[in-house]
Amino acid sequence: MNKPTVRKALLYESVRGGLVKCLLCERRCLIPEESAGFCGTRVNMGGTLYTVVYGDISALSVNPIEKGCLRRGSPLENPYTTSIQVQEL
Ligand code: SF4
Repeated sequence: MNKPTVRKALLYESVRGGLVKCLLCERRCLIPEESAGFCGTRVNMGGTLYTVVYGDISALSVNPIEKGCLRRGSPLENPYTTSIQVQEL
């Protein structure tokens, strides 16, 4: 798969019979080949686990300035907030 949001995952281990165990969150999904984990963002392709949302925007929101920890801004401003999916550490 040659998409910019698909990257090989780091936190997983191979189990028997082509299964992989995702270690990214506490759910610890056992994922058969050509299937996705519970969250739908991790896919077992040929015994290797891939994330399919790398770099995707995962949230867009406008929040009150008081909610953020910005160095500059006034109480009347509403900063636009984005977040993206990044590779696990
Ligand atoms: S596949 Fe998704 S839900 Fe399952 S352990 Fe990995 S990150 Fe958690």
